[in-house]
Amino acid sequence: MSLSRRTLLVAAAGTTLAACAPATSPAPPVPTAAPVPTAAPVPTAAPVPTAEPVAPTPTPTATPTPTAEVPAPAPVAPAPAPAPAAVPTRALVTARYADAAPAAWGLDVPGVLTTLPRAAAPAIALTFDACGGPGGSGYDAALVDTLRTHGVPATLFLNARWIDANPAVFESLAADPLFEIANHGTAHRPLSVTGRSAYGIAGTRDPGEVHDEIAGNLAKLTALLGRPPAFFRSGTAHYDDVATRIAADLGQRIAGFSTNADGGATLPAAQVRRELLDAAPGAVVIAHMNHPTAGTAPGLATALPTLLAAGRTFTRLSDAFR
Ligand SMILES: [Zn+2]
Repeated sequence: MSLSRRTLLVAAAGTTLAACAPATSPAPPVPTAAPVPTAAPVPTAAPVPTAEPVAPTPTPTATPTPTAEVPAPAPVAPAPAPAPAAVPTRALVTARYADAAPAAWGLDVPGVLTTLPRAAAPAIALTFDACGGPGGSGYDAALVDTLRTHGVPATLFLNARWIDANPAVFESLAADPLFEIANHGTAHRPLSVTGRSAYGIAGTRDPGEVHDEIAGNLAKLTALLGRPPAFFRSGTAHYDDVATRIAADLGQRIAGFSTNADGGATLPAAQVRRELLDAAPGAVVIAHMNHPTAGTAPGLATALPTLLAAGRTFTRLSDAFR
């Protein structure tokens, strides 16, 4: 990645913080970095079907003589569903990464998915964060209503604190097949093994704390949903490359982004609309669903009809990364 692109990305994400931190200082409007298409996945060869076994031609036989009653075959018990892979323990993660030194830090480090695979384009993935905590546990019902009205799918990254503050809304969202529920962390911390911070928010300090930040909300969501969420995004969306390996060990794929649509819920509706209209095919779009007075919902409401009329399609992350 070029320096300018990285600079843009870092700058673009600067405004992401505002939705995730106490609203003390407004972040400046920042242009959204252009998405960089990822390399196309190399298709694997399709399996060659084997020839259908040919049944031998039945030979006419004499009239069968009645035989003794043949016992019915014993019913075959259905195979048990495979047990979900156990999440590595804190102790295991701590031991495994005790000597690991990170070589990268930021929004786009190895292990972070920032655009959709080419096979999923020209769809774009709308993702909305709900950061939780003081000032961050609101619910933008208008935004979700807009998605439902247009039948537009989205991936919702929910922090454990936000879920605790919005249990009824959580149930409604989790029951709606339009939405994929994803993991936005336990305490909304940047994911570092050395205590790095982002936008003034202290990051996790060691592999054990990285484990806790992921696994706490992972356990909560697994219990609530009946299955583990597939995707994770940290508070501030910052990581080092050891933390992303720990996330992978815990079965989580990390969703970065290529379009910052609402600047951490600070952008006016007109700019949110423009960012959405400018999102390239294959973009992963980040915005927020926890600030109901922000420009995010009205911007989305004016952009979606235009995008749909132009034939744009939308996908949940798990549908794109199969
Ligand atoms: Zn957040």
